[in-house]
Amino acid sequence: MAAFEPVRGSILRIGLPSYTLPPHEITYTYLFGGDDLVLFDVGARPGEGGKLLHAVEELGKPVRTVILSHHHPDHVSGLKEVYEPLGRPFVRAHPWTREYLASSFPGIRFGPDLSDGEVLKEGDVEARVLYTPGHAPGHVSLYLPREEVVLLGDLLVGEGSGTVVIAPPEGDLLAYEESLHRVAALGDVLGAPAHGDLLPSVEEGAKRALAHKGEREAQVVAALRRHAEGARLEDLLTQVYGDNLGEPVAFLASKTLLAHLLKLEAQGRARQDGEGRWYSDAENL
Ligand SMILES: [Zn+2]
Repeated sequence: MAAFEPVRGSILRIGLPSYTLPPHEITYTYLFGGDDLVLFDVGARPGEGGKLLHAVEELGKPVRTVILSHHHPDHVSGLKEVYEPLGRPFVRAHPWTREYLASSFPGIRFGPDLSDGEVLKEGDVEARVLYTPGHAPGHVSLYLPREEVVLLGDLLVGEGSGTVVIAPPEGDLLAYEESLHRVAALGDVLGAPAHGDLLPSVEEGAKRALAHKGEREAQVVAALRRHAEGARLEDLLTQVYGDNLGEPVAFLASKTLLAHLLKLEAQGRARQDGEGRWYSDAENL
């Protein structure tokens, strides 16, 4: 039977099978608090929520609040199954996430919207809301200063478990990189991702992700430079990723490439004509 494993202080986590993307198969739900408990993300696939309920029951304390990091199914799809058995906790999220989900979760009582910088207090545990968009427009992380832990949602994944997908139009690479800088500034605190192992230093994890995006960006810039006459996304895709990509990798790669091009466009370093051809803006590139 799945059970909670300790993270640090009162923070626990449990991995449950979810509708996530390879190479992952589970999403971690985090839990913290004092006499009352807070859950962070409920990504369990339908039929898997019972494991979470059983593990919570073992703790013998009520869950009053569920926080959702963002709207993706592998972070929210367990909500319907656990909501009533948990005693209808408040479900709190960024307003973008709450608006997106409200129609598909009609019976659920959404609590006050989360706001950036807000401090949640549960017993003697404090958690500060960090607005960290980029992977999703309403993405939030939680920083627990006393425990020196950041609950990351999909801002970062564990080391050696791939990279976070930034897929336009919801994904925004410029916003994502700003969010990475924001958590890197927290320094050497423990990073607790939804997928993969704990990150001993969130600063190092964020810098590694920024370096990876920087390398990819350099490849995209080089490919654009080779095409003064403009290039279509498919041509750039082959140059940046090679031509042996199978589905679904090719789909994710083309989304990632588009995210880079849109970032360069927002910075005035690339432009797009009405026929889907991309050009480098040589003066700024
Ligand atoms: Zn996600």
